[in-house]
Amino acid sequence: MNFKSIRQPALPILPVQSTDEPRLFWPTLAATCLSWLCLVLALLVPLSLPTLAVAQPPKIIYIQPLLPAPSPDVIEAVRDGLLAFYPVQVRQLPAIPMPQSAWHAPRARWDADVLLPWLVQRLPADGAKILGLTQDDIFTHDAKLGLWGVLGLGTMDGKSNVISTFRAKRGVDVAQLLVRIAKVAVHEVGHNFGLDHCEQTRTCLMSSAQHRVKSIDAEVDLCPACRAQLRASGVEVPAAAGKRWR
Ligand SMILES: [Zn+2]
Ligand SMILES: [Zn+2]
Repeated sequence: MNFKSIRQPALPILPVQSTDEPRLFWPTLAATCLSWLCLVLALLVPLSLPTLAVAQPPKIIYIQPLLPAPSPDVIEAVRDGLLAFYPVQVRQLPAIPMPQSAWHAPRARWDADVLLPWLVQRLPADGAKILGLTQDDIFTHDAKLGLWGVLGLGTMDGKSNVISTFRAKRGVDVAQLLVRIAKVAVHEVGHNFGLDHCEQTRTCLMSSAQHRVKSIDAEVDLCPACRAQLRASGVEVPAAAGKRWR
């Protein structure tokens, strides 16, 4: 239905009649109401069309295992975590080695700041984001702390993040490692979706790790403020997402 098809029927029933005759009042009133109704519809229909046009398929997040790649259950936990919190599809790429340009020999660990742009180059054309996943230790360059080992690192409002099981597995069994690594994935992809570290509550998955791995264990959900920010940018988090940890 377009603008013309709505307005055209109104034109023949707008007679110019004498107002002296009472019997013409109701037909004239009806015609006037109908023409106003048509005008309102003609204004509303074009406004509603862009809403229909922006319906898009879910964004695709690619998991890129990086050698030494984590076990399949770790990859599955990351996939489940992302699917529980974000309206996305998750696909897995074949495992590949990390680039030597990211290797830091003095500390025997990988530079996550080098890995992030390198991962973006490997993002398939239909993908929105790429998540590197490795067992090896990774670090970032902290202004105060220097080279600092991290669980994960993600670009703010960007396309890539990288996650390591190296520190997340310390002092816990496999089941708890899977929970931790899934939470880290939700956190880093949250950065990719534009979320900064959250100060609202320590139970928010976007809280800063505050340099302690154990702080992740207290995180259970994205807080209302983080959900609202995601929703404002078109990312709708399922209401029951956080319950999976409890
Ligand atoms: Zn963070
Ligand atoms: Zn939050």
